[in-house]
Order: sequence, then structure tokens, then C-alpha cells
Amino acid sequence: MIQAVRGMKDLLPTEAARWQAIEQVARQVFRCYGFQEIRLPLLERTELFARSIGESTDIVEKEMYTFNDRHGDSLTLRPEATASVVRAFIENHLDQGAGVKKYYTIGPMFRYERPQKGRYRQFHQINCEAFGVDAPELDAELILMLMDMLEKFGLGQVRLIINSLGCPGCRPGFKQDLTEFLARQVEHLCPDCQRRVVANPLRVFDCKSKTCQEIVSAAPTLQEQLCPDCRRHLDRVLELLSGFGLNFEINPRLVRGLDYYTRTAFEVVTTQLGTQDAIAGGGRYNGLVKALGGPDLPAIGFAIGQERLASLLTDSRLGSEPHPFLFIAALGEAARQRGFQLAQELRRLGLAVELEFSDRSLKAQMSIADRRKATYVLILGDRELATGEAPLRHMAGGGQETMALAGLAPALARRFAAEEGA
Ligand code: AMP
Repeated sequence: MIQAVRGMKDLLPTEAARWQAIEQVARQVFRCYGFQEIRLPLLERTELFARSIGESTDIVEKEMYTFNDRHGDSLTLRPEATASVVRAFIENHLDQGAGVKKYYTIGPMFRYERPQKGRYRQFHQINCEAFGVDAPELDAELILMLMDMLEKFGLGQVRLIINSLGCPGCRPGFKQDLTEFLARQVEHLCPDCQRRVVANPLRVFDCKSKTCQEIVSAAPTLQEQLCPDCRRHLDRVLELLSGFGLNFEINPRLVRGLDYYTRTAFEVVTTQLGTQDAIAGGGRYNGLVKALGGPDLPAIGFAIGQERLASLLTDSRLGSEPHPFLFIAALGEAARQRGFQLAQELRRLGLAVELEFSDRSLKAQMSIADRRKATYVLILGDRELATGEAPLRHMAGGGQETMALAGLAPALARRFAAEEGA
């Protein structure tokens, strides 16, 4: 038997229905905030990620699915969406015209991580990116949208954690101080962090090793060294969020897994998911559009992990498996043909109808209808065809009535509209 690739999950109907419901809510929220959908390729040139995410990040160093295509070009399955969105933004000249440009995209990402509960090698994200202004209002708006959406899903126990990662003005000085601090105790750091001290010292904040965590807990933080502009920017974002009644925590040690962030960085975590507790993360990346060859435009975005979001919603009523309005239990060849015609007529009117193309007994067909949670079952056999009338059984209520076969489709469509439709 051939099995799915390790760390890659099948989404079966019940779960897929929940995902659809999540996406529907997300799309409604995005519409209210002026975000438009874009759909991008899953494959990009490897250099796009190397240049944007950063050579010395875990993602680029060890987690990318990279291969040469038949032409010898190095391609990578996207490990995150921001780089692709920025690439598309530049390539399609989406910066033209005034105003903030807002996009969202939903789809799979690929990272060669060690799979565990809540961590997969193919996982899905809902991504939002906004381009055009550095105003703290945009940061606040984006965070408010994210938190509004999580609230719409009924997620109570989430924490919003915020930090500022500074700008090219104040970060280098801090990086220098941090490097010096870490260099003094380099022999106690894990082998990965020993390399990071030189290559990318901020990443040490992200290390899971206990000793590294202890060391960085005493390290200088960027909060203490933000330049006046970055300080003002952060204060204004926090002031706006407080003004809208949002609770947040400031964590001066929050850094994000990717190099391109500037100023506001944030994460939403929950206590309900064990070690993989991050539901969403994001922040500003003011220099990235320019670094990838586009105009000098500030931008900000976030990504929600769909698997983790969905796993928090299992108990809620969000998204139930679709069930047919009508199941046609047809007995015999003639009834099956008539049933097939009726099903097509009803489906064209927008009703969900199922029937079995088999010779099963009435009892067997009733039990299939029951399992499929059909609202009604129409029983159709030679006798019904001869008399022009057939029994319609209401599965939940148990009642039964006799329906004329002539004009049955419009009659059922009217009933559907009254009971389940608009
Ligand atoms: P990141 O791009 O790493 O900031 O991830 C954003 C969000 O995607 C995280 O908060 C998680 O919810 C989700 N996520 C990241 N990596 C994985 C993974 N390997 N499996 C499942 N979800 C993930």
C-alpha cells in the first residue's frame, strides 16, 4: 500500500467542511476590511526565499523542499506566503495607483520540520498582506481584523503578544550589543546558536534549548534601544489597540522566524494546543519590497495556521458535513431511470440529491439514507410509477406522506426553500 508522505495529512469531508466554514468567515471579515484575494503558484525560484526569509534562518537552512527542475532551475515549494505575495506584487505592478493595497491568500505551505501534533510538513495558512503606508493605524487595523476574526470563531483563550523589532536605524546597534553579550558565553550556547551569534544573533531568542533560553532571558532587549521613531510607532499601535479594548502582552523577546520584519511583530498563542501554541504570527516588513527589486513601500502582514485554528474549533458547531435534502430509494430498473431524471431536475434547481445505482433492498437503501443524514427519502418502485404517486419519508420526524410524481420537482424545491433554503 502506498501511504501519504510523512507530515502530510488528508482532509476528510467532516474536516473539510469545517475548513470551508472557517474560510467563509475569513472571507467575510476580509471583505469588510478591504482585502482582496490573490492565488499564487506553490513553486517559486529558490532565491526568492533565500533572499527574503534570510539565509541563516531555520526555514532556509534546513526546512525547504528544494529541487532542480528538468531545466536545471532550482525551485522551492513555498515555505510561507509573504515572499510570494511580494514577488507577485512587484511583478504585476500592483503598487500602481494611490491607496493601501490589501491582499489575502489561502493555501498550503511546505516545511521539512519534524512532524508532531500541530506541526506538519504540508500545512495551510490564511495570509493577509497590506502594502503602502507605515502608519501605526494600519498595524492596529490589521491586528484588530485578526482578533475580530478569531473572536468570530469563538476563540476565547488566546493571547496577543507584541514587540517591536526596530528599524535599520536602531537594530544594528542592538544587534552589536547582543552579539557581544552572547559572545561572552558562547561556549554555553547550543551548537546552532553558536553559529547564530555571528550569522544572526536575534535568532537565539527563538531557540528552544533551555540553556539558550536562560542565557537570553538576561540579554539586552531591543525595547530598551528603540529609536524615537520606532518607540513612537509602537506606542501609537498599543494606544490604538487599547482604545479598541484589546488585551495584549508586550514581550521584548518576541522575534519572528523570518529576517525581514521591522517594527511591529506579533503572535497569537493559545493555552489549548500544547507545545505548538502559535495560531498566528505577523508583523511589518518595511524593507522587503525594495529588497526584492520593487519600490520602497512599507508593508505589514500575518499568517494564521489553518490546521491549528481548525483543531481549536472541533467542539463548535462551525461547519457540519453536508447532507442531502433528498435520497431517492429506487427499486428496479424503471424506477432507477425515473429517479435519475428526478435527481437531475432537482439538482438543477439547487437541491442536494443522492441515489444509489445498485440493486440493494429497500432496507439497505434506507440505511444508506440514514447514514448520509438525508432530510427526506422518496421511495420509488414499479407500483409508484404505475399509480403516479410515491411515499416521501421525513427521516428525522419519522412521518410519511404521499406525493404526486407529476410536478414533484417544483414541489420539493418549494419545500426546500421553505425549510432549508434562503
Ligand atoms: P510562521 O510563518 O512560522 O510565522 O507561521 C505562521 C503560523 O502558521 C503559525 O502561527 C502556525 O499557526 C502555522 N504553522 C507554522 N508552521 C507550521 C507547521 N509546520 N505545521 C502547522 N502549522 C504551522
